[in-house]
Amino acid sequence: MDKHPAAFEDVRPAVLGGASPNGGRPARLPAVDPLRCTGCGRCVAACPPHALSLAPRGWVKVAELHAPDDCSPCGRCVRACPFDAVRMAATPAPQAGRHGAGA
Ligand code: SF4
Ligand code: SF4
Repeated sequence: MDKHPAAFEDVRPAVLGGASPNGGRPARLPAVDPLRCTGCGRCVAACPPHALSLAPRGWVKVAELHAPDDCSPCGRCVRACPFDAVRMAATPAPQAGRHGAGA
């Protein structure tokens, strides 16, 4: 039972395995392209943990990952978007303390 359903196609093993090089955060999180997002809200509705919301951006609203720590990341928002505005993107590794290199 080491295989995962298709819903997890965007999830990397490091996430499912628990430990990740990003301090416990998923290695990949959804990223919304505000230029493609129409604010339709389908990704918001598709997100089980309600990690996405619509946020004002000028005169319009665009989807925003307001709770990245709640993201599984299942990838449902990616598949729910009819405008190809959401992608799973690598999360930046946190600054892990100071390793020498003082300034
Ligand atoms: S990847 Fe899944 S949990 Fe994360 S924001 Fe998208 S729908 Fe929600
Ligand atoms: S489904 Fe796509 S277009 Fe609709 S709000 Fe989400 S990112 Fe924007």
